[in-house]
Amino acid sequence: MRGLALHWQILIGMILGTLLGISLNLAAGQRSVTVSEGLPDGIVEASIEDSASMSVIRYRDESGDETVRRIDPTGQIEGSVTSADRLQRRDPVAAALYREYGGTPAKRWGAWFKRIGGLFLRMLQMVAVPLIVTSLITGIMGLGGTAGVGRMFRSTLLYYLSTSFLAIVTGLFAVNLIRPGLGGPRRNVVDPDELDGGQSLGEILFGQLETMIPANPLGALVAPDFLSIIAFTIAFALFALSVGGQSAERIKNAATAGFDVMMAMTMFIIRLAPIGVLFLIAYVTATQGASVFRSLAWYVVAVALALAVHALVTLPVILWFVAKRNPAEYAKAMSPALLTAFSSASSNGTLPLTLSCVEKRAGVSNRTGSFVLPLGATVNMDGTALYEAVAVLFIAQLHHGQNLDLSQQIIVAVTALLASVGAAGIPHAGLVMMVVILQAVGLPIEMQGIILAVDRVLDMARTAVNVWSDSCGCAVVERLESTSEPVAEPAPA
Ligand code: ASP
Repeated sequence: MRGLALHWQILIGMILGTLLGISLNLAAGQRSVTVSEGLPDGIVEASIEDSASMSVIRYRDESGDETVRRIDPTGQIEGSVTSADRLQRRDPVAAALYREYGGTPAKRWGAWFKRIGGLFLRMLQMVAVPLIVTSLITGIMGLGGTAGVGRMFRSTLLYYLSTSFLAIVTGLFAVNLIRPGLGGPRRNVVDPDELDGGQSLGEILFGQLETMIPANPLGALVAPDFLSIIAFTIAFALFALSVGGQSAERIKNAATAGFDVMMAMTMFIIRLAPIGVLFLIAYVTATQGASVFRSLAWYVVAVALALAVHALVTLPVILWFVAKRNPAEYAKAMSPALLTAFSSASSNGTLPLTLSCVEKRAGVSNRTGSFVLPLGATVNMDGTALYEAVAVLFIAQLHHGQNLDLSQQIIVAVTALLASVGAAGIPHAGLVMMVVILQAVGLPIEMQGIILAVDRVLDMARTAVNVWSDSCGCAVVERLESTSEPVAEPAPA
């Protein structure tokens, strides 16, 4: 297995995990018990029938009244709840009985698989903060302090922001249209009393703004509050650039050194992905059966469709109208970089090739290329931003059984944008960053396990889109620069 490319290993891990989980689910996925001793006060008899698709908890009290509660993960049965946690809120007695006597062997094994696979997720969480901080500082400090940096920075940022925003909107559109997490008929999963107290959009956006100005940046690091971390780090790097001289040099060197180490650590952790995938998928299939893949297929379709629209429609239109370049020719010139991005799933790894394609094959100046691309490899990730939005909405659909409302979707959009800015250009970085968004809309991070199985293929596709957007950015910025005032070029060394 060691000699195989990582994505094959992950695929194998996924298949093995699926087989393991499904066999467990088939062999030991059902159980029913009746208990009449050792029950909580006032309860004389209890019985529990448990399977992946349904748990029925019945209990009789001393007056002979029987209560029946159902846990239906798909939420299709009237009056049922979707999880044991929700049962706890609705009926603590039934929840306690379920905890004590419920659970099939498949579910108990599944819980262990989840903990083992969780070690891998913990490692990803572990590197997230230092990786983001060092990668952002390195990317921004790489700009140097040359004349005209401000103006080029502005048009570059404008391009980054507008294309990432368009990508997210495309993603949200696709996931609302296809609704990959809502397969099947009507659901009744959300308790009305669990819905948010309806904050206004203004309040939500202002809240985001407040988060972006952390009163205590170290506190934000410790929390960790990713939005605050990213905003503060960007400000820090920009001010370091403006201070310049030795101080800037030292910070840049320290950040680069830190980044190298964090990259090495992350790459190491990512090598464990096949094992992580095996256990997380085994957990999902052991506890939920094979039906989970039906939704996963639609999820892949939603991501792929949205990525295709962005790469084949939105970006070419911008290239044509703003940069006045022929998209087909430009894509052909960039193809070595795009294919490398696809197979390596790393914008950073592809960067040297992207630079040389942009300059040598697409005729963009070195000044623009060396400015737009390195920053873009870290900061401008349209594919990642789009993917984050689709993935989080998909998870929310699975978890809540319905779409997030508009204000929650706006939080997803804003945090997806920032998460894509904060993601490093390495394989699966998007997965690491997703924690940020899940946390922002209060979704459990373990649910990432569900999409991990297909993350590699989607990572390949989104990385190609990331690099394609960076490349288009070069042409756009070059055009914007050439039609405005000439910038004083530093004398060649
Ligand atoms: N692999 C992506 C990249 O390098 C980042 C991500 O995981 O979305 O661009």
